[in-house]
Amino acid sequence: MLDSFKDECGVFGIFGHPEAANMTYLGLYALQHRGQESAGIAASDGRQVRISRAMGYVADAFDSETLSTLPGPMAIGHVRYSTAGESKLLNAQPILIDCAHGQIAICHNGNLVNAGELRDELVQQGSIFQSTSDTEVILHLYARAKGRRVDDAVVASVSQVQGAFSLLMLTRDCLIAVRDPHGFRPLALGRLGEAYVVCSETCAMDLIGATYERDVEPGEVLVISAEGVRSIKPFPPAPLAHCIFEHVYFARPDSYVFGRSVNQVRTDLGRTLACEQAVGADVIVPVPDSGVCAAMGFAEESGVPLKMGLIRNHYVGRTFIQPQSSIRHFGVRVKLNPVRSILEGRRVVLVDDSLVRGTTSRKIVGMVRAAGAKEVHVRISCPPTISPCFYGVDTPRKSELIAATHTLDEIREFLEADSVAYLSLEGLLGAVGTERASYCSSCYTGQYPVPVPRCEAGYLQLALKLDRDKAEAVTG
Ligand code: SF4
Repeated sequence: MLDSFKDECGVFGIFGHPEAANMTYLGLYALQHRGQESAGIAASDGRQVRISRAMGYVADAFDSETLSTLPGPMAIGHVRYSTAGESKLLNAQPILIDCAHGQIAICHNGNLVNAGELRDELVQQGSIFQSTSDTEVILHLYARAKGRRVDDAVVASVSQVQGAFSLLMLTRDCLIAVRDPHGFRPLALGRLGEAYVVCSETCAMDLIGATYERDVEPGEVLVISAEGVRSIKPFPPAPLAHCIFEHVYFARPDSYVFGRSVNQVRTDLGRTLACEQAVGADVIVPVPDSGVCAAMGFAEESGVPLKMGLIRNHYVGRTFIQPQSSIRHFGVRVKLNPVRSILEGRRVVLVDDSLVRGTTSRKIVGMVRAAGAKEVHVRISCPPTISPCFYGVDTPRKSELIAATHTLDEIREFLEADSVAYLSLEGLLGAVGTERASYCSSCYTGQYPVPVPRCEAGYLQLALKLDRDKAEAVTG
């Protein structure tokens, strides 16, 4: 999906491994799709927590020399896309502090909906913030917490925040994993020999040969130390609200999240979409890579062959030098190129996993037509996205979401497609295979399971959101 929601963040932690920092590097490598702005690792040798962070991809942020400065058998790491706070090194994670409870490093996947209020209160009381990240609020609350034991202070601090948080914390001698009571973001626990691994997605365990054991439960705090694993359930019960968009788009298809295979769910989304929105066609073409699983399901169900009619250039970096003379649709074309022999004279079903602003999809439809397609039918494997996310996914404002501001026919006209159709909400919930109550689907319904800031503009300003035009310029 090029016309995209931005990825959020990924976390990885390991306890009890002689090469903890190296393993964390590999784990972050597998989670790179969840955030490409910065990467960081904190490691402890039992005496001191050390940290290294840098902007950019994991492979650029670390080399063997940097990793050698992070000794010890326990480490946590983070890849970031800024969902709250500016994109700069100060906001990179983990964040490390030293306070009355000793050193602690933290990394966070999610977004706190009451971070602004808490931050204002803390500043009034004299706190000095180093970053604009919502995660730093937790550290200030932790530093002020009265509990004598580290886990008491952790519980006291995280009990005050609301929203989505899958957290990893590292002290000199223990690793603590926390998942919010609604379970918005995934967090999985596994083993690598004697070591414990905690990470956002199971694909990170696969890379290092670890075995998935179970999910960290919503509302659970896991304290992993030399004494073993201790589970604390300090939060009052809350309705589950797993982010359904993890299955639609974020997670890697080779991962299991919320107990389900992402590939299986996405293929089922495509199957259901084919049943709900059938259309006469000669070829099913996925928008790579995001639309591939759903397109396979669509093709299987419809009996129409799937062909890779768009080829993705995997080597496009974050920026590229645009030629001075204008090349039509250069931004998209440098990433995707149509295969004329597949498209020419054919009725094409173009399958993608979502439609956000519609600007890139319009260019793709244009490219497919220019390559000779007779008809172009756009099929989206999720319902219309009509509301922004406040729980850690970087969505455009409501006014920028095409489905929030246009009718289906207007969208079709804008895309210059022969038809456009979405999966129904019932179809989506059926494919994730569980009762409606356990998933958050707010971006499709506008009904939020945890109260969100009243003023969207104020919230975005508070979070010092980046100028989205900059991101648009990159995605073309
Ligand atoms: S609003 Fe959408 S993207 Fe955000 S947590 Fe809910 S389902 Fe996920």
